[in-house]
Amino acid sequence: MKQAVSDIAVDFEKIRKDFPILSSELNGHPLVYLDNAASSQMPRQVADRLDRYNRFEHSNVHRGIHTLSQKATDAYEEARKKVHSFINAASEDEIIYTTGTTDSINLVANSYGLTHFSEGDEVILSEMEHHANIVPWQMVAEKTGAVIKVIPVTDSGDLDMEAYKRLLGPKTKMVAVIHVSNALGTINPVKEISDLAHENGSVVLIDGAQAVPHQKVDVQEIGADFYVFSAHKMCGPTGFGILYGKKHLLDEMPPYRGGGDMIDKVTFEKTTYNVTPFKFEAGTPPISASIGFSAAIDYLEKIGMKAIEEREYELVNYLVEQLSGINGLKFVGESENRACLASFVFDHIHASDVGTLLDKQGIAIRTGHHCAQPILRRFNVPATSRASLSFYNSKEDIDRLVEGINYVKSFFE
Ligand code: PLP
Repeated sequence: MKQAVSDIAVDFEKIRKDFPILSSELNGHPLVYLDNAASSQMPRQVADRLDRYNRFEHSNVHRGIHTLSQKATDAYEEARKKVHSFINAASEDEIIYTTGTTDSINLVANSYGLTHFSEGDEVILSEMEHHANIVPWQMVAEKTGAVIKVIPVTDSGDLDMEAYKRLLGPKTKMVAVIHVSNALGTINPVKEISDLAHENGSVVLIDGAQAVPHQKVDVQEIGADFYVFSAHKMCGPTGFGILYGKKHLLDEMPPYRGGGDMIDKVTFEKTTYNVTPFKFEAGTPPISASIGFSAAIDYLEKIGMKAIEEREYELVNYLVEQLSGINGLKFVGESENRACLASFVFDHIHASDVGTLLDKQGIAIRTGHHCAQPILRRFNVPATSRASLSFYNSKEDIDRLVEGINYVKSFFE
């Protein structure tokens, strides 16, 4: 388990009331939402901000001379400032808006990968990657002749760091690794991964989709060249995400998409491009989503990331303790460094039966391969049930889950 970090008194009962959906019913029962790793819920502060923008403030950005457009541009650009300080980037120019983690990785794979990889170069991934951090690299490898190498995972669900060191070599161009596994819950030693890659002269991308919502992330401390995440997993809207990249790398990378806003000058003979970060943001961007994301960052910062981390630490300890008492339940992923989720299986009950019967009791968990088929194959299971927490969950939610699982089991005994 990760360590608690401080003693900050925050009233999480009160905070829970910011999320109207948590007081609603599902299938005739009070909702228990434990699918936060897939997408988190949105507090009314963020929903209200989106509503206000859409009703009274909407206009296109970067182009208009009129006041409304200038106001929308200011609000849209404010998210860049907020993200910059939220993750401690060195400059606002290092924050690229994308549609999410998947889009951010595709951008790096295509823009950096296509221009830097050639036949026989190696890209190191890990066995526990989300498909979003596998498939884009495979697609670029097919075009360039680069080769994918994979860091194996131990029985506890940790990266085999000795194997990683052995994989690093003169051909390693890129190391792309998940910060927190969405399938196992493992928190990976990303600073060490990044330092080792840099000593080897390789570039590093960290998939932070499951880390940024739950802990204070400092990209300069981690040292990775690229760090990516999605707004919808951290109380923000869907369709919006971030690519953080070191400025000197972004400056030399070509644009990934062409169109309006990303240009300097266009003629039929030749187009020159805008500067970083705008050269990566073609077309009308997700304006309202960026404004909603600003509000989400404000919301999380008001609670405090340390308080969130501490709260989730307490909840996940309780979750693991309670699930451990259920006969026949086996965890998939038992790292000492576990984030706020638990994946589990039963020998004689399929995960989809667990998910369906819990849903009938108003309990939402995720079942399946969690877009991480290779790691499930590694553990010899086709699917797991995954309960993933957020700071707004409660011990009562976990008690309901345990009751629900015992009810599911009663069908199969
Ligand atoms: N990486 C990880 C670790 C994830 O958990 C997810 C989503 O579940 C993604 C990438 C993809 O995120 P998105 O669908 O927001 O692009």
